Amino acid sequence: MVAKMLAARLHVLGEPMSIDTVEAPSPRPNDVLVRVRACGIVPNMANVLANWPKWFPHQPLPELPAVFGLDAAGVVEEVGEAVINTRPGDRVYVNPLRSCGSCQVCRGGERSRCRYFTLNGYFSTSRDGQRIFDLYPYGGFCEYMTAPEYSIVNLPDNMSFEQAGKLGYIGTSYEALRHAQAGPGQVGLIDGATGTLGVAATALSLAMGVSRVLGTGRDEKLLKRVKALAPDRVEVFKLGEGSSGDWARSMTEGEGADFVISALGAKAPVETMLDSLQGVRRGGRVVNVGGVADRLPLDVKWLMDEQVQLIGSNWFSTAQGQEIADMVRTGALDLGYLEPQRFPLSEVNEAISGLRHRSGGFSNYVVIP
Ligand SMILES: [Zn+2]
Repeated sequence: MVAKMLAARLHVLGEPMSIDTVEAPSPRPNDVLVRVRACGIVPNMANVLANWPKWFPHQPLPELPAVFGLDAAGVVEEVGEAVINTRPGDRVYVNPLRSCGSCQVCRGGERSRCRYFTLNGYFSTSRDGQRIFDLYPYGGFCEYMTAPEYSIVNLPDNMSFEQAGKLGYIGTSYEALRHAQAGPGQVGLIDGATGTLGVAATALSLAMGVSRVLGTGRDEKLLKRVKALAPDRVEVFKLGEGSSGDWARSMTEGEGADFVISALGAKAPVETMLDSLQGVRRGGRVVNVGGVADRLPLDVKWLMDEQVQLIGSNWFSTAQGQEIADMVRTGALDLGYLEPQRFPLSEVNEAISGLRHRSGGFSNYVVIP
């Protein structure tokens, strides 16, 4: 039994978190207790901690003081009496997706469609999200957290806790590629290939056997690094130097890409997405995981005539997280591109504000509690 622990807690929105000594949790029957060894910091965390209730009041934060931290990985310390498969000593990633577990979609294994969909240690997408935060009040910016057994991804020995701390965005890109039905023989256009989601989508596409990846971005140095992931299978295009849709067509003998992953940032101009949409082939799929700054004025007759599917996607299932871990175990997916930058828990605030200087999707900021 663990009695006390250190936790970074947010007491007032927009102010730094403080490092508090609090009671360590103990697992309920279906929960596990994880000793956190790394927790990733997503680029959006600073916004969540300062601006979320103003920007997105329909996506509530946990009641303060709260322990944030989205992507935690560590070692199982204790398991509840009803836990069957997970054991103390297991190296794990905790998928922060929480849901009610008993509605029709949850029973069908589609937890991300549950009306209680909540990201532990981050925010909820449900006005009733506090019910979930009350059950799981610990994000990854603390020494010990409880998690339901259904959220546990087992990590292979060749996957570091720091790499696992990036699984949230890697998993989000993976689900997008699954929606896109990405696979061998295909050409994928990844719009925004230099960002966190985009680099992950590129590496995953290669691992999933996609024949060619066409990646766009604004930063030439980062585009070179994306190309270097597999020089004979990846082509890159600098946004702002012509039409990305035309480029994708020119690279596919006029046909267009089999799928487009739109992984632009939340502040990207809508025209950028409209342009890459034109790079998809007839019958192709466009999956949005980034969002853009404005509403999309879309020609739905074109969508109909060309039988193009436009699909919104977010987050991923624990089973998909396990698939990614298994691809790392076999060597199919190489996460060696990630450059971990480690911060002790005492520097969590500096780490979050330091994200301004990150080098695109190759950087990996982690807190080590
Ligand atoms: Zn549910």
